Amino acid sequence: CLTLALETSCDETSAAVVADGRIVLSNIISSQIPVHQKYGGVVPEIASRKHIENVLPVIDQALQAAGASLTDISAIGVTYGPGLVGALLVGVSVAKALSFASGIPLVGVNHLEGHIFANFLAHPKLEPPFMALVVSGGHTSLVHVKGYNEFALLGQTRDDAAGEAFDKVARVMKLPYPGGPYIDALAAKGNPEAIAFPRALSGKNSFEFSFSGLKSAVLNYLNSAAQKQEDINTADVAASFQAAVIDVLVNKSLQAAAICGVEQIVLAGGVAANSGLKAKLGYECQQAGISFFYPDPILCTDNAAMIACRAYYQHQIGDYADLHLNAKPSLKLGARKVGT
Ligand code: ATP
Ligand code: MG
Ligand code: FE
Repeated sequence: CLTLALETSCDETSAAVVADGRIVLSNIISSQIPVHQKYGGVVPEIASRKHIENVLPVIDQALQAAGASLTDISAIGVTYGPGLVGALLVGVSVAKALSFASGIPLVGVNHLEGHIFANFLAHPKLEPPFMALVVSGGHTSLVHVKGYNEFALLGQTRDDAAGEAFDKVARVMKLPYPGGPYIDALAAKGNPEAIAFPRALSGKNSFEFSFSGLKSAVLNYLNSAAQKQEDINTADVAASFQAAVIDVLVNKSLQAAAICGVEQIVLAGGVAANSGLKAKLGYECQQAGISFFYPDPILCTDNAAMIACRAYYQHQIGDYADLHLNAKPSLKLGARKVGT
């Protein structure tokens, strides 16, 4: 059973073909990062226009690389939220047109559920239940994945997402966009205990996050050092900032797993590519006797293979969309029910 999927929620135009929900036959990703880099962030209007230019070639490449044609496809999945409305609309419109023309059923996929499902591609034997820590450019959430189609949100960020904090701190440190990977590399050379940055909302069994105070603390530290004309060890700043983010993420994930009685933790979203986070969470899980999973970096950031995986499991239960499917920029996790 082959699923074809499209992902255009932000600044990656991607199409992929996945077999039986788990085997990636192709995963073509056309990244617009170089286009947006000179603006220091994603420019929504440019993103939409680039998606329009890229989407059809990317679909052709995905089918070709998979050795498949449209007639081999059992379901067409597409990200319909959350994300940038104009960007989402490109994928949604094309997927609806393809479905209408071919008669292949259409599946509307939640981007965040897709991020979680990247783990099923990376780990063929992984099955729910587990605790998922979703850490991406726009979201930071703890999700109890009870089954393939059953999710419970335990808590999320009140302000900035983890990835957003990485990108904003990196921007002030004059690192390229998106800053996460650059902070990650710099942090590896610094002392994580050099500067005591705040760990917000670290109370026991609280599953909400807050990263805007941490971001401000780093900016204040850099500004006051600049004013006093002190030398700054940027590697120490990166390492200390990253350690503050990681501490909170790791502690809350383990508490959430304990409270829900699950024995597996999975990492999802772009920040799941962070080497410090993987190392610390891996270590703490091992200490607690919990199995720990994360995807390869290419499956952590936006890609259509994870959407095709999610679409496969919706296809299994007949969770299809009709031609009224619309982009939903602030779609909530687990929002879609069969037949709605
Ligand atoms: P969302 O999924 O919430 O809609 P998004 O799709 O823009 O947001 P992703 O593509 O999942 O976000 O992830 C991009 C984010 O991941 C960026 O903030 C980027 O800096 C961050 N990121 C990527 N690699 C790393 C890394 N190694 N360390 C830290 N952050 C990273
Ligand atoms: Mg992106
Ligand atoms: Fe994403």
